Amino acid sequence: MTPKASEGSRELSVQKIKDGTVIDHISAGYALAVLQILGITGREGDILLVAMNMHSKRLDKKDLIKIEGRELTTEEINRIALVAPKATINIIRSFKVHHKQRIKIPDEIEGIVNCANPSCITNNERGITSSFTVTQRNPVTLRCTYCKQITSHNQIIDQLLGKS
Ligand SMILES: [Zn+2]
Repeated sequence: MTPKASEGSRELSVQKIKDGTVIDHISAGYALAVLQILGITGREGDILLVAMNMHSKRLDKKDLIKIEGRELTTEEINRIALVAPKATINIIRSFKVHHKQRIKIPDEIEGIVNCANPSCITNNERGITSSFTVTQRNPVTLRCTYCKQITSHNQIIDQLLGKS
């Protein structure tokens, strides 16, 4: 496992994983929100590498996550679009990229975030899952199916990072 020649000395070397998922090109500062979306705490016991504010050719700076022992499902990958629409997903098997998967922002989102309207039925009745139509894709903006209130990208991020 020698580093590739293209990985210059300025690049931070990050340990390879055997089987799992690499999420690359996450906008800088959003890696923790991605982990929150995936429900990954780091206490699962599997190797989890999180690198933030790394140099990138495509973006000014980027975050990167490597998750050992877990191949993300298409649904999980699409959820990542809520906070990192430019991310790229590599499924790793036996240290090699088995396939790359594009993120496709779904038209509808169920759960994950709460409606921004405090008096929305989804925030007040038990057993009603939040439900949204995606009205804007980059950055993602959501409209509640029930009360039509818009939940902004910043509100989504604040919720996922536990600021609200
Ligand atoms: Zn609502």
